[in-house]
Amino acid sequence: MNKPLLGCIADDFTGATDLANNLVRSGMRTVQTIGVPTDLEAPIDADAIVVALKSRTIAPADAVAQSLAALRWLQGQGVQQIYFKYCSTFDSTAQGNIGPVTEALLDALHCKKRGPGHGPEHDNSEGFTIACPAFPENQRTVFKGHLFVGDVLLSDSGMRDHPLTPMRDANLVRVMQAQTRRKVGLVAHDVVARGADAIRARFAALQADGVGVAMVDAISNADLMAIGQALADMKLVTAGSGIALGLPQNWQRNGRLQTSSSGNTQADALPPATGHRAIVSGSCSVATNAQVRDFKQGGGLAFAVNPLALAAGTDVVSNALAWAQTKLNDGPVLIYATAEPAAVLAVQAQLGAARAGEIVEQALSKIALGLVTLGVRQLLVAGGETSGAVVQALGIQRMTIGAQIDPGVPWTGVLSPACPGAHLHMALKSGNFGSTDFFSKAFTVLKASA
Ligand code: ADP
Repeated sequence: MNKPLLGCIADDFTGATDLANNLVRSGMRTVQTIGVPTDLEAPIDADAIVVALKSRTIAPADAVAQSLAALRWLQGQGVQQIYFKYCSTFDSTAQGNIGPVTEALLDALHCKKRGPGHGPEHDNSEGFTIACPAFPENQRTVFKGHLFVGDVLLSDSGMRDHPLTPMRDANLVRVMQAQTRRKVGLVAHDVVARGADAIRARFAALQADGVGVAMVDAISNADLMAIGQALADMKLVTAGSGIALGLPQNWQRNGRLQTSSSGNTQADALPPATGHRAIVSGSCSVATNAQVRDFKQGGGLAFAVNPLALAAGTDVVSNALAWAQTKLNDGPVLIYATAEPAAVLAVQAQLGAARAGEIVEQALSKIALGLVTLGVRQLLVAGGETSGAVVQALGIQRMTIGAQIDPGVPWTGVLSPACPGAHLHMALKSGNFGSTDFFSKAFTVLKASA
């Protein structure tokens, strides 16, 4: 059994499976934990560990505390490099949480203890890391520090209307600088295109100039590989899931990771899928709205959750489950709060954004729990925050990564106290991921891989 090489801290649950999926694809045996495991002693037999937090939209101080707890646990596992994973659309506000968490992790990793009776002493630098949400396979590219979603700037994409983290500025150097005391710089694409040595030289120049966080351009998988190579000795990497594709090569090169270990071994490891099929969707992203429409237009069975009815005290959870009970034999069934921006705004105007988000997440997670109790064993959840709430309601502690449905979204195998002794297949879909026919395609992939 080898010590894990890479320790990852993901700020939401869909992002965690997205990252784990990329690591598995590039040859790292990966274990994903839900939250920081309480069992400190149990060594984990894997090349990479992803700790999934639900820290993207909580208060910055709480996000920092949870991330530092994850860091300490990962350090206890003996990992060589830390990876802080956030969304490929850089979901955050001016308060954070990407900046504050990055800063806290840098402080912790670059702080040497002098011994008893002495205070902590910083090493020569305040630390240096990168930031790069690029994931070109999923149409997230960074050029001249600006994030593009497909063909448009982040600020012109549907992300400008996100219920919790509206992104109205595509200039990520500026966005990151607003969240951190450290100086933010840029490694532009002309440097990235010249390869790992040029990137490393630019890192050194930026650091000499007092930069603590370098935003890095990337528009292709080749860029990710060059950047990955340049990150071999960096203690902390902060990024979306794309950068993970370029890291395993470093350990393969120095012989610490078998080049022969293949993601397929894990993908095939999930037991055959059984039981009823259901989708729970709390994402209001453009892609999810299109997926809900497509599913309904194709004759899919669907039940809409109305946030205002929830707020008024209607027992929407029981109504949804009573409806599902009569339909599950003909499933998959879809239960959704997904709505277009105008409808979301109208709800938020009455309830406030935080309360609306919270009551919808609570209701959908209770519905998911009820569905599993009714025999659902193949569960697809759409929405990062929504997935976090559902995974917590189901009491899931670990996820095994299985077959990929679309880039960033694998099926996973989990155990839940809600269905003791049974295997549950779950897929957690980040809002803007997945093709339009994702909701029907997902179950076909599972059938094919089982
Ligand atoms: P995504 O991955 O698309 O960002 P999330 O689940 O992370 O999706 O975030 C969507 C948020 O919007 C959640 O907090 C959810 O509860 C909330 N929400 C879902 N439907 C509605 C609605 N109809 N009105 C207001 N808020 C909603």
